[in-house]
Amino acid sequence: MAITPQPGIMEIDLYVGGKSHVDGLSNVLKLSSNENPLGSSDAAKEAVVRASHTLNRYPSSDHASLREAIGDVWGLDPERIICGAGSDEIIAFLCQAYAGQGDEVIYTEHGFAMYRIGALAVGATPVEVAERERVVDVDAILAACTKKTKLVFIANPANPTGTMIGEADATRLAEGLPEQAILVLDGAYAEYVEGYDAGKQLVESRDNVVMTRTFSKIYGLGGLRVGYGYAPKPILDVLNRIRGPFNVSSVGLVAAEAAVRDTAHTEKCRAENAKQREWMAGALAEMGLPSDTSTANFILVRFPSADEAKACHDALASQGILLRYVANYGLPNCIRITVGDEASCRRVVHAIGQFKGAS
Ligand SMILES: *Cc1c(COP(=O)(O)O)cnc(C)c1O
Repeated sequence: MAITPQPGIMEIDLYVGGKSHVDGLSNVLKLSSNENPLGSSDAAKEAVVRASHTLNRYPSSDHASLREAIGDVWGLDPERIICGAGSDEIIAFLCQAYAGQGDEVIYTEHGFAMYRIGALAVGATPVEVAERERVVDVDAILAACTKKTKLVFIANPANPTGTMIGEADATRLAEGLPEQAILVLDGAYAEYVEGYDAGKQLVESRDNVVMTRTFSKIYGLGGLRVGYGYAPKPILDVLNRIRGPFNVSSVGLVAAEAAVRDTAHTEKCRAENAKQREWMAGALAEMGLPSDTSTANFILVRFPSADEAKACHDALASQGILLRYVANYGLPNCIRITVGDEASCRRVVHAIGQFKGAS
């Protein structure tokens, strides 16, 4: 018998990340991966330097110190937190633990690519549900649920649309799921939304909701790979059984802990992002390029046609301005632009203005 991978795996398309360089150009502006333009907290950088003296030591395997810090800052119960190598690893744990061949994993039309990859990697059946005008449609998800549905993934705020559903809709979704299904609220951008609990109340009051969060976005630590999940105790117990004992590095743990405790830096990043995002969205709308009101650190700009969106993306790339063309998310007439610092936002708006003027 030939060597053959498990069913589903060859259906996975390789994840394509945002480009980070252009041949022959040095002044490249990368606005394609939703990275924090202000970088990580100085306290996190200092923690990394300190940790560099003990790289020979294995990291903590219970992540107690980081879980306590997250709990302090966000009012979460450390006993219900699981840390991962990015929130991607928490998504993978959930798929591995709860879905397999014959099971269905739901995500939405423009949903984040890792949900489909996670489902296929464990041989489960990915089920894509339509959105309504680039917003997650709770009724459509509930209508798509079956006895085989095991996991429902939605990012709130969503990537790449930047839109959100409200607390009442999220609650209705959790309440309406079949009894064997878990709702996963991916809060990768939750810290950008003032006053949003990212699903904390739902996790704490129900047995079928898990929230994921990351240090890759507002905390500016994408290079270190740290994320976490917040789950009811029985689910946490399951996930911890498949988690490798040393799944988060020592450097990642201390950097994340310092970053989450530096609430002044987080607040500065949130406020600056909101300010630049409003300015950029407004300036582009004036050029006839609208976007949905974004609650995250990027905007999804709509062009009159797919050809124009692609041409604009390519024209800016040739000048060293890297944006994300999102045809592979079912949005061929759109470009996702990460909110940069003030100078970057001005540079990208100016370049798009020149493209519009020339075309
Ligand atoms: C960026 C992003 C993540 C973060 O993934 P990490 O593995 O934590 O870096 C998760 N979900 C969504 C929707 C994202 O856009």
